[in-house]
Amino acid sequence: MAKILYVYNNQVYANITNKCDCSCTFCIRSQMDGVGDAETLWHSKEPSLEEIIAAIDAFDFTGYTEFVYCGYGEPTCALENLTASARYVREKTGLPIRINPNGLGNLYHKRDIVPELAQVTDCISISLNAPDEKEYEKVTRPAFPDAFSAMLDFAEACGRQIKRTQLSIVDILSPEAQEACRKIADDRGIHLKIRKFEQGA
Ligand code: SF4
Repeated sequence: MAKILYVYNNQVYANITNKCDCSCTFCIRSQMDGVGDAETLWHSKEPSLEEIIAAIDAFDFTGYTEFVYCGYGEPTCALENLTASARYVREKTGLPIRINPNGLGNLYHKRDIVPELAQVTDCISISLNAPDEKEYEKVTRPAFPDAFSAMLDFAEACGRQIKRTQLSIVDILSPEAQEACRKIADDRGIHLKIRKFEQGA
């Protein structure tokens, strides 16, 4: 059975869905079944809120410093379970919460979900992935048209409503592409995080 909570680099990660509206060429899901202490992060069925809460109740949070929604899917595809469980984690543990979304949540839900995320998270780290639309389409293969500009609009909205908002790229991009990504982030007043390739979604 797939883990709903797993540990990676001494942080607790929540793997609440395997749904995703991208098909990134670099996605860790196509390389291995699990990361950290999880043998597999592929669910046999999508976890219910009750199952997510039970996993939280069964976990010993002693010594951990952050609770992160990431995993083998796009966390905002399970928006209701994401917001409800984040409220529960906050109440139960007091840990700061981070969400690592692909930034397409408004396209997926056909409405503005940022205010709902802003109520439950301390930090949001949105995958920028590429310095322009053409490259973004090539590497993330999104399910929607105009995804690059929608992702940037989503990031800007997060920047206005969530104190710790960042755009993220992986360190496999060329130095020139990384610099172009930095300009995109700087132009929007958003921090750019450059993360290791192994960290996945
Ligand atoms: S890297 Fe993230 S956004 Fe891309 S396909 Fe994998 S889970 Fe989806």
